[in-house]
Amino acid sequence: MTELPSLHHIAVIGAGWSGCAAATELASSGYRVSLFESSRIPGGRARRVETDGQILDNGQHILLAGYRESLRLMKKVGVDVNAAFMRLPLQIAYPPDSNDISFVTPFLPAPFHLLIALLRPNGLQMADKLTLARCISAMRWMDWQLSEDCPVTHLLEQLGQSPRLYQLLWRPLCLSALNTPPDEASANIFLRVLRDSIGGKRADSDMLIPKTDLSALFPEKAIHFIEARHGQFHGGRTVRALHKHHAGWLVDNTLFDAVILATSARSAQQLIRRQARIPELDAFRFESIHTCYLGYAPSVRLSRPFLALRDNPRDNHWGQFVFDHGWLHPTRAGIFAVVISASSSVADIPRKTLESAIAQQLAKACRMPALATPSWSYTLSERDATFFCYPGIVRPSCQTELDGLFLAGDYVHGNYPATLESAVQNGVNAAKQVIWSLHGKTSAESARTALPC
Ligand SMILES: Cc1cc2nc3c(=O)[nH]c(=O)nc-3n(C[C@H](O)[C@H](O)[C@H](O)COP(=O)(O)OP(=O)(O)OC[C@H]3O[C@@H](n4cnc5c(N)ncnc54)[C@H](O)[C@@H]3O)c2cc1C
Repeated sequence: MTELPSLHHIAVIGAGWSGCAAATELASSGYRVSLFESSRIPGGRARRVETDGQILDNGQHILLAGYRESLRLMKKVGVDVNAAFMRLPLQIAYPPDSNDISFVTPFLPAPFHLLIALLRPNGLQMADKLTLARCISAMRWMDWQLSEDCPVTHLLEQLGQSPRLYQLLWRPLCLSALNTPPDEASANIFLRVLRDSIGGKRADSDMLIPKTDLSALFPEKAIHFIEARHGQFHGGRTVRALHKHHAGWLVDNTLFDAVILATSARSAQQLIRRQARIPELDAFRFESIHTCYLGYAPSVRLSRPFLALRDNPRDNHWGQFVFDHGWLHPTRAGIFAVVISASSSVADIPRKTLESAIAQQLAKACRMPALATPSWSYTLSERDATFFCYPGIVRPSCQTELDGLFLAGDYVHGNYPATLESAVQNGVNAAKQVIWSLHGKTSAESARTALPC
């Protein structure tokens, strides 16, 4: 890069998707960025994990084609987004022959994609099809929001959803989108997710499954982008202290003009508690996600790239979705990822017992006995995977009471639950706030030279 950077120097703490988005936005606007990250591998809660010779992710992720900011920034840092994902129409399909539903929308413009998915044989009785159609049109009529928030189950009861629709469609949708059980999840946040998936353009509802690992997908490309623009990535460096200085902010004794704190809510609270109290940070609760990887012979293949599974703790059936990575890349053939959302109930089950139960569940659901005996298995659990999306949750804003300190991260105020898109949107927003706040101010460059850094 030949352009000279701005004299302003910004610290971004945390190289998850939000911090990487903030750093990219700042670097592309000509600001010099230092990106600090505790781990050597960037990506945070959406990152590559290398173990026993396998390259896995910390958890299976799906993006939606309507994740506009994520896709825009990926393109900006040089990702070929058409090649990076397997694109599928919106769907929730159970294994064939299971008598459960197979709701797969065709590649048709909205609302015909929903209409056709409803009309064709999909395992639903006519009465359920009508209730579902009425429910979606009522949500549309309500403009996808309630004046008073309530749990998702209350909303579905009001809209007359049958137990079968609840069990096979709404519950798995709510768990996968909000990582919060429907009887405790915010109906308003759920409605916003539905608005942007089934309520918008058909193309926005398409599902994108990454073909590469999550660190390579965006964070590592973002780091190359900022390094090419005079920025620096400090991997393996945990920031221990933040102090307000008359000329900016001291991050572990180095002076910056402004700081974007793009960590999780919990780490943000720890870092700034001496400077300020942000009460919304105290109100967060967190929920876990387990991802159980199972390895089979490369010839073992599911009928679809991913399938829904019926979970039932009484039968030790914990898995809710299974992804067959053989559909994504030939070198990944035989690797399956089984997702357990809102998984605190499995936290105490020994790993090997859990993996064996999941393999049995898979074999039974897919009617493929070979799936009961994987050649290897590995479980990754993220204890604080996402914040708990309860009704009426109040999230902090990006701006703090402290001049020059901004919050980013999936938990910051926004439309979405904890997702990659909310992380990226909030990262971009924090970068814009920094730029606005510095606009017209003199740089702290001269003060910096006087400091022992
Ligand atoms: C298993 C799992 C499955 C998921 N599935 C999906 C999905 O399918 N679709 C979807 O959209 N979203 C999904 N999510 C949610 C999504 O991954 C998160 O919302 C998103 O990654 C959050 O990004 P973030 O940058 O806000 O925070 P984080 O990823 O938590 O990044 C914060 C970073 O800050 C670093 N850090 C913390 N403290 C310090 C410090 N003092 N100094 C330096 N660095 C520090 C951390 O190491 C971390 O890398 C899933 C999450 C998990 C865990």
